[in-house]
Amino acid sequence: MAVPIEEHVDLKQLPQEERLARMRHSAAHVLAEAMVELMPEAELGIGPPIENGFYYDFRLPRPLTEEDLKWLQKRMRKSLGRRLPFQMEQITREEAQERWKDQPFKLDLLSDLEDGSITQCTHGKFTDLCRGGHVNHTGELGAFKLTSIAGAYWRGSEKNPQLQRVYGILFETEEELQDYERRLEEARRRDHRRIGRDLKLFDLYDEVGPGHVVWLPAGATIRRELMRWIEDLELERGYLHVSTPNVSKRELYVKSGHWDHFRDAMYPVMEREGEEYVLRPMNCPSHIMVYMSDLHSYRELPLRIAELGNMHRWEKSGQVSGMSRVRIMTLNDAHIFCADTAQVESEVEGVLRLMEEVYGTLGLKDYAYRLSLGDPENKEKYVDNPPMWEAGEALLRRVLQKVGLDFYEAKDEAAFYGPKIDVQFQTAAGKDETLVTIQVDFHFPEQFGLEYVGEDGARHRPIIVHRGVISTLERMVALLIEEYEGNFPLWLAPTQAIVIPIADRHIPYGEEVAAKLRTARLRVEVDNRSDRMNAKIRDAQMRKIPYVLVVGDREAEAGQAAVRVRGGEDLGPMALDDLLEKLRTERDTKALSP
Ligand SMILES: [Zn+2]
Ligand SMILES: [Zn+2]
Repeated sequence: MAVPIEEHVDLKQLPQEERLARMRHSAAHVLAEAMVELMPEAELGIGPPIENGFYYDFRLPRPLTEEDLKWLQKRMRKSLGRRLPFQMEQITREEAQERWKDQPFKLDLLSDLEDGSITQCTHGKFTDLCRGGHVNHTGELGAFKLTSIAGAYWRGSEKNPQLQRVYGILFETEEELQDYERRLEEARRRDHRRIGRDLKLFDLYDEVGPGHVVWLPAGATIRRELMRWIEDLELERGYLHVSTPNVSKRELYVKSGHWDHFRDAMYPVMEREGEEYVLRPMNCPSHIMVYMSDLHSYRELPLRIAELGNMHRWEKSGQVSGMSRVRIMTLNDAHIFCADTAQVESEVEGVLRLMEEVYGTLGLKDYAYRLSLGDPENKEKYVDNPPMWEAGEALLRRVLQKVGLDFYEAKDEAAFYGPKIDVQFQTAAGKDETLVTIQVDFHFPEQFGLEYVGEDGARHRPIIVHRGVISTLERMVALLIEEYEGNFPLWLAPTQAIVIPIADRHIPYGEEVAAKLRTARLRVEVDNRSDRMNAKIRDAQMRKIPYVLVVGDREAEAGQAAVRVRGGEDLGPMALDDLLEKLRTERDTKALSP
């Protein structure tokens, strides 16, 4: 016998988070009701509340269209005025099996439920198998909107049938809903995937595979500028650059512990001639090999080994995204081999100061330092060595305080071999992501038996500092695209200036102007298409080129160009020498704006 469960919730008394969760989950019921009306054959999956809204998964006889979404939404809005109560009831397994016999996914869910805890919920004529968490009636749903359709596997596994997922957003008031949509629109405008496509910076291809980024010439130019810059900054700070292989024998990663702790994130093993090879997921073991090529004296430490090294991580295909989540990446990596903790402290300090300089130059502001700690309870995830963890964590805390940086601490966020400082960034979509890390590592030196000869003539263990600064070039460029909305400062802009001849007869002079600027290694194009001048100027603006140089009879005669800055400012005619000097200075100082 079905037993009704009486429940009245005073929504106003609930914490906002729970109130919203109830509204969002209830809206998912109303969505399912509308769907069953649209397609009676619909098979129901689950309909949970999520951040900012809700979704419901369905198996349907045909793909959903935008028209369907509109219809569903209209149908859902109607329920609002009808104020239909949500009525929960407890049922027996037999009742449930009979009631849900035509709904295979509900039957599957039923197998997870314990006897005595099987409940369903009815509003109007619609019933759903559900464990509860609703508002009192459909009049309390708030302001919502159906936003998109996506594919999703039942229970998130590729082995199961694929369903269609309908997403909605829901807030308490119409104003909050509109505010959220405005923020979403802003994020869309800044989305690196869209801008990357518009500006032809990079592309992704089915044949190449998800997460395998192809850098197009414009994007590769930005990448190269960043690489040269960071390598120069490292040279100034005594780093030595190396180049090590992307493929190593599996045994190297068994020894490092990556195989035990990191295997799921690695590409599968390659076998040839009885040997097993893997694509490297991290550069650390390669740089440890560099260290081991020689017996080092304390006089050589700290030894700073750096490489723009490729790494390969098997991110699930549902998780790769544009350039911010990829499978093959190039990391601005370094491993600093230190004699003792005093050296570690001063090296970590040096890295933090380098980071501040780099992010300052790039004009980045929305980031925070996070001290990421291990979890002594979790012996599976982390190397079991409590004194090592305590010493490492205290040291990083000390340095952060000394450099005077704001930071917060987070448990259970460390690397498997030691604590770290993470630099956390906000993406345009508002997601918190780790850009780079600094890690103190007592573990690998032990694991690989690393040594140096001390002042006393005896052998000692070095300590390794792992660090990035630029992060992976993929993630950094994604971040910069969103930060600048594609308006790169001159030094990074793929095309720095474009010459626009007013008529065909001005093309030769235009070529002269370009050649002159190229003597300073400025990246200049001549737009020699036969379009009208205004169309060419518009095109240059769309491509976000920092300088547009218009040349006609007057300019050719005077040895000048009429200069327009990106964003519209008109600087009027300038002598070529002055122009060259202006652009050179702006580039060399890495100015963020003209
Ligand atoms: Zn429910
Ligand atoms: Zn490392």
